[in-house]
Amino acid sequence: MSVKEILVTGGAGFLGSHLCERLIAERHNVLCVDNFFTGSRQNVSHLIGNPSFELMRHDVTFPLYVEVDQIYNLACPASPIHYQYDPVQTTKTSVHGAINMLGLAKRTHARILQASTSEVYGDPEVHPQPESYWGKVNPIGIRSCYDEGKRCAETLFFDYWRQHNLEIKVMRLFNTYGPRMHPNDGRVVSNFIVQALKGDDITIFGDGQQTRSFCYVDDLIELMIRMMKSPAEFIGPVNAGNPCEFTMLELAEKVLALTNSKSKLVNLPLPSDDPKQRQPDISLAKEKLDWAPKVSLEDGLKETIEYFRSIID
Ligand code: NAD
Ligand code: UDP
Ligand code: UDP
Repeated sequence: MSVKEILVTGGAGFLGSHLCERLIAERHNVLCVDNFFTGSRQNVSHLIGNPSFELMRHDVTFPLYVEVDQIYNLACPASPIHYQYDPVQTTKTSVHGAINMLGLAKRTHARILQASTSEVYGDPEVHPQPESYWGKVNPIGIRSCYDEGKRCAETLFFDYWRQHNLEIKVMRLFNTYGPRMHPNDGRVVSNFIVQALKGDDITIFGDGQQTRSFCYVDDLIELMIRMMKSPAEFIGPVNAGNPCEFTMLELAEKVLALTNSKSKLVNLPLPSDDPKQRQPDISLAKEKLDWAPKVSLEDGLKETIEYFRSIID
């Protein structure tokens, strides 16, 4: 297998750091580009000093001139509180970031993979969601900077493919969790675990009957690598997630049991435009990439709880 020069944008984030680690284990050279908005040097500190790894502080909304064979475009804050903190910058990151990375891919003839999201389906009326579903997205709400930014990025990927014959790969990631999630990013898995470990109240938004399907990070990274290596004609979009669906109340109860916590459940208002249900139809990933998630929610939560225990202590 030939050694490739691989750019990972958002490489110092939760998913990006696991991806960099995996690519280096496969003996590639990795250029990790990140502006450290939600990611950190800490997430990749174990890779710094490795001759195959280079870390560059850079904001993808500005042009980037480097020579690479492959690009994984992950730069973008992913949790609602982070992407809503500076919504204009969130849209710029998705849209200008995609234009710059596609321009880079065009010049270098690099294959480029986009980390899109299940949020392109919005608050879905079709359940579970297949890739053919166009979604139900509010264009002017508080989640729109993220949802519409990611939708526009998909459009740009497909237009660069049609117009410039770029080798593109588009993946729609559903909720993914695991070690190195940001403890304060407000996502449900990190929130519940940190609250349970500290003995704080577990914050259930709304009645807790809304559902999500949680994929463990290792399963997701395996699919991302398979997608990048797949034949050029398979461009996606392809759903990436674990179809096991849980209500937020069920998740809270699992976390409480696994942490032996005495935290109480409290109800807080449901944020606007919060999707009521979400579950990926993963038949396409199974058929084209021979992939299925292996890690159960219980096993994945145990690993994640250990991680949070270590950083909280
Ligand atoms: P994360 O916030 O941990 O990682 C995002 C990284 O991008 C961070 O390191 C951040 O500093 C960096 N970044 C943000 N704006 C940037 C900019 N303008 N220039 C350079 N770097 C920038 O989130 P994550 O969970 O690792 O998500 C990674 C990608 O996967 C994101 O694109 C996200 O939209 C997508 N995704 C994640 C999930 C999930 O459940 N984790 C679900 C769907 C999609
Ligand atoms: N770009 C970049 N790195 C490159 C090549 C291009 O960041 O190696 C950026 C550049 O800023 C440009 C964008 O990508 O605005 C889109 O490039 P493209 O060639 O598609 O369009 P154009 O240069 O005509 O705007
Ligand atoms: N949620 C919750 N309590 C929290 C954080 C989130 O009940 O402390 C809910 C949230 O309203 C949503 C679900 O958990 O219905 C998943 O939220 P998250 O922010 O993790 O991801 P997303 O909404 O983007 O899927």
